[in-house]
Amino acid sequence: KPMENRITDIGPKHYEQFYPPVIKANKGKWAYHEVLQAGVLKHVAESGDEVYTVRCGGARLMSVTHIREICEIADKHCDGYVRWTTRNNIEFMVDAEAKVKPLIDDLESRKFAGGSYKFPVGGTGAGITNIVHTQGWIHCHTPATDASGPVKAAMDVLFDDFKSMRLPAHLRVSLACCLNMCGAVHCSDIAILGYHRKPPMLDHEYLDKMCEIPLAVAACPTAAIRPTKVEIGDKKLNSVAVKQERCMFCGNCYTMCPSMPLADTEGDGIVIMAGGKVSNRISYPKFSKVVVAFLPNEVPRWESTTDCIKNMVEAYAAGANKYERFGEWAERIGWERFFDVTGLEFTHHLIDDFRDPAYYTWRQTSQFKF
Ligand code: SF4
Ligand code: SF4
Repeated sequence: KPMENRITDIGPKHYEQFYPPVIKANKGKWAYHEVLQAGVLKHVAESGDEVYTVRCGGARLMSVTHIREICEIADKHCDGYVRWTTRNNIEFMVDAEAKVKPLIDDLESRKFAGGSYKFPVGGTGAGITNIVHTQGWIHCHTPATDASGPVKAAMDVLFDDFKSMRLPAHLRVSLACCLNMCGAVHCSDIAILGYHRKPPMLDHEYLDKMCEIPLAVAACPTAAIRPTKVEIGDKKLNSVAVKQERCMFCGNCYTMCPSMPLADTEGDGIVIMAGGKVSNRISYPKFSKVVVAFLPNEVPRWESTTDCIKNMVEAYAAGANKYERFGEWAERIGWERFFDVTGLEFTHHLIDDFRDPAYYTWRQTSQFKF
């Protein structure tokens, strides 16, 4: 049934229909909140009402069976209410402290056949919460790495920091599987970015049949593509040429033209970025910087990527001051020292030539001594 003031009933229902009653009753009138333990938040309203939120790890892709189990838990403990965070965490909310322990015990008792948690409680406060990520090989057409695979591998090595709050501040990790970047890699403490290193291949035989050539030309942000004629046998075909030195391997052309694929086992892999954030606490928001120019796609456990991330997290945990975010720590100790303490190699690939002040990087800073 359409809601009042809605023209149609197309699209999701208005979110107000899904508020737990205690949230609806106290909307906009919250006095304070605190983190009771990793994964458990307490919000207190001006009216004195309390809400306890138990957060547990989820996945971006879930089976119907798994979602049914989540609904069953919500029915059992939370009068059917459940919510998802933007980082794919699942949050169960209850309105009395006495309901919290039975909920946590139930969540943590549910295990997969191999014994691992189905619903690990954690991901709040000064720790690592779930990794926000993109579609990867399972769905999108331009990924240079998978999304769910490296995210699962990374969260496995970071799991202790999901379930605890030992870090100086919260640490946000993100993944985008190509530089079109549906993730948040430009502004995360640590970011995993899929990167192609080869220009698109050209399937001249099919290109004119499958693609609108002007669209493919217009799709290129660096004007690397031009229309051309190609001779195959006795046929002269309409096609395109790519000026390779202009190509930045973004894959936009492939979005427009399936005859220009650029996925390549050898060329594709991962870039690690670090030091970004959106918060303006302590310091202004920051863009992430590239700290590892390339790591191969090591299916299925992405060992080089997870080792690198783990080293960075441990160095941050050991060296940062309380409340200092990853980038603030790196800037305080100096990025030169950042490479020393994390054991990462500084290479010429980390120096870029962008002139735009929005992209000020190593080359523009007078402090950087490499
Ligand atoms: Fe597709 Fe790129 Fe988005 Fe990944 S980041 S889902 S490859 S557009
Ligand atoms: Fe242009 Fe990007 Fe295609 Fe390269 S991959 S030719 S930069 S659209």
